[in-house]
Amino acid sequence: MTKQTFPNSLLPKNINALAAYSSAKSQKLTGSTWLNANESPYSKTIELSLSDLNRYPDPQPESVIQAYAQYAQLDKDQVVMTRGADEGIELLVRTYCKSGEDSIALFLPTYGMYKVTADSHNVTINALTQDLLLQGSSEQIVTAVGNSKLVFICNPNNPTGSTTELSKISAIAKALENKAIVVVDEAYIEFCPEQTASSLLQDFDNIVVLRTLSKAFALAGLRTGFMLANTKLLAPIRKVIAPYPVSRVVAKIAEQALQADAITQMRRQVTILNRAKTTLVQWLKECSAVDKVLDGQGNFVTVQLSNKADIDKAMQSGLIMRPFTLYEQDNWLRISIGNEQELEQVKNWLDALNAQQ
Ligand SMILES: *Cc1c(COP(=O)(O)O)cnc(C)c1O
Repeated sequence: MTKQTFPNSLLPKNINALAAYSSAKSQKLTGSTWLNANESPYSKTIELSLSDLNRYPDPQPESVIQAYAQYAQLDKDQVVMTRGADEGIELLVRTYCKSGEDSIALFLPTYGMYKVTADSHNVTINALTQDLLLQGSSEQIVTAVGNSKLVFICNPNNPTGSTTELSKISAIAKALENKAIVVVDEAYIEFCPEQTASSLLQDFDNIVVLRTLSKAFALAGLRTGFMLANTKLLAPIRKVIAPYPVSRVVAKIAEQALQADAITQMRRQVTILNRAKTTLVQWLKECSAVDKVLDGQGNFVTVQLSNKADIDKAMQSGLIMRPFTLYEQDNWLRISIGNEQELEQVKNWLDALNAQQ
């Protein structure tokens, strides 16, 4: 290793070794159709009138907590509001893992932020596989988890769309009682609400459910998420979280997004997006350039192409989707479910691929 100069010479080893996190939005791509970040195609204009911005906000805005608790059918003291589910992930690692000593377990391929967060806090990754999670028995899974402190189950899983049965999640939580915390990341749960693990909080003090307004609620720009868990688990989190994490502006908008009529509208949009996904999956399965279609839950579909260069053709035409390396192959692509016009762009691209065969 080359000798570092200031200020890098001051960096702890784990920070120095970090690769810049590449989110769907960190690259400067040019395009016209954005289907790369699992955002909702529905945007609304919000008008606000606020007069009290000279005052610090409520650390946990009462009206938002109340509304989310009602939506999730939980008590208010089981809800913590965060700056996106990403902050929830970070709070769990910072609060429950000892730097340089502890590990978290995750099931690859999965959402990238678990590893990024663990790396930045010098927490080790116990890298398990989705195959183990889906096909293994709970005994096999718990054995592989070993003494990892946190077990991240992304449900539905980004980017494969697969879901883990609740009976398996509860069996894992049961076996890990008093030993580890099972974190169920439900960023996409509104697309399959019957799969939520939130009812397991009745029986388990070692389960946390992560939620967000970024996907089905169409508010990725707001940066709002929630941690759902029992009070004992949340108490230390409440000590670690920033004193005023949620601005008054954000709280006001989140409150509106959780009104009954807004929730009805969100559910209507989910129905439309789920229907559009079925259509897209059909097109993909009929396309000769597509080898595999992972049509699971969530507002996205992940496919393997026969030819990676076909992705560039889409990019060149302004159709931006998210390329992935999965199972050590770099010809995977995740397509977010957009609106009708956006999916028409995908159709045009697929038609062109069919024509060239
Ligand atoms: C998008 C996403 C998140 C992040 O949500 P934010 O609330 O925008 O931080 C968390 N987990 C998964 C699996 C996601 O896909």
